Amino acid sequence: MAEVIDVSIERTQSVTVEFDDGVRASFPLADLRRACPCAGCKGAREQGRDPWTPRAGGVSPTIVDAELVGAWGLSIRWDDGHDTGIYSWDGMRRWYDDDHASGDPS
Ligand SMILES: [Zn+2]
Repeated sequence: MAEVIDVSIERTQSVTVEFDDGVRASFPLADLRRACPCAGCKGAREQGRDPWTPRAGGVSPTIVDAELVGAWGLSIRWDDGHDTGIYSWDGMRRWYDDDHASGDPS
């Protein structure tokens, strides 16, 4: 499993995670917010509901605060007050790999 060597957080744009095998995975905040791994959001997704309510005009959620959780992942506090999700590096890497695995010839 690749190790994380750098994380950059742009509170209104995206979170970018750099791995030691050269992969630089960038996640738009709206996608991250929707993919929140906490039990509440997971439950909402399983019921086919959106765990985050998009705002008028397609305004993206923003990060109020983010904190490294050991070597394990990232805890994010969102501007809607939600802060129970911890995004693991493993999970983010798998998500990136899945996104780039399908039908890309390069
Ligand atoms: Zn959540």
